[in-house]
Amino acid sequence: MCLIEAGQSGECRVRVNIDGALRTVVYGYPCSIAVDPIEKKPLFHFLPGTGILSVATVGCNLHCTNCQNWEISQANPEDEDIRAYSCSPEKLVALTKQNNCPSLAYTYTDPIVYYEYTSDSAKLAREANIRNVLVTAGYINAEPWKKLLRYVDAANIDLKSISDDFYRRVCSATLKPVQNALVMAKASGILVEVTNLVIPTLNDEPEQIGELARWVKVNLGAETPLHFSGFYPRYKMRNLPPTSLKTLEKARQIAKSEGLDYVYIGNVASKEGQNTYCPGCKKLLIERSGFTIMQNRIRGGGCPDCEREIYGVWK
Ligand code: SF4
Repeated sequence: MCLIEAGQSGECRVRVNIDGALRTVVYGYPCSIAVDPIEKKPLFHFLPGTGILSVATVGCNLHCTNCQNWEISQANPEDEDIRAYSCSPEKLVALTKQNNCPSLAYTYTDPIVYYEYTSDSAKLAREANIRNVLVTAGYINAEPWKKLLRYVDAANIDLKSISDDFYRRVCSATLKPVQNALVMAKASGILVEVTNLVIPTLNDEPEQIGELARWVKVNLGAETPLHFSGFYPRYKMRNLPPTSLKTLEKARQIAKSEGLDYVYIGNVASKEGQNTYCPGCKKLLIERSGFTIMQNRIRGGGCPDCEREIYGVWK
């Protein structure tokens, strides 16, 4: 919790105490707008092969020492080298349509810190038949989370570790609120995928990976896709090597043996770790090369060979 003096900003740097009221200073002023493949979020079970308009403002409520986007997540809105575009929620929705994107992602930093902008844009997007996607660390209280989820169609939520100590040491946060947010998101009926960034020596022990996978299975369901993502030395964590493919493959194998249906590898090239296989008959369903869909055999939301339903939003 931040205690903010008059005229000062909080930990996220985008909320200022003005005359005793907390005001966001980034509403309508994103620092990044781009069209990405939806696979880059990563979302592998939501409208595969489509583009997604992706937006972010500066700021974050976490301070991960490994942050890949630290130049914007840890920036101040008034920093000289920070760009800000004037883009109202109406303009954002219009841009999404102009770019023929069926969905809009609130991403790169954390939509929780630009909550009002996310929420207003998501309401307008839904009225315009555009789906809303959150890419978030999920560090939020239950009440605002519940309100926001009403307008959300899909989310990729980080589960950075199953250790509270890791959250405290690496992210300046705690584990429990993230677990609560994950459970609430899944229970709300939106499409949920989970990302775990595997950092050598910090959260890559097989026991920890197994515990994390079990938690996902028990609390979110075996059908919840889990992405093990490779770490690269960035920001304040330049003393560790990148995650090896071998470590990521081992993590994938552990999570599959714990009973998760869809386990992926990201940030490092991996043939099998990027594809979707049917949990029933084990046949290939979606073949990916990087962010490109090479083939998609899913028919009517299911496997064309054994007809098993495949978790996802496919059209
Ligand atoms: S939650 Fe994400 S954006 Fe925020 S500091 Fe951590 S890694 Fe960076």
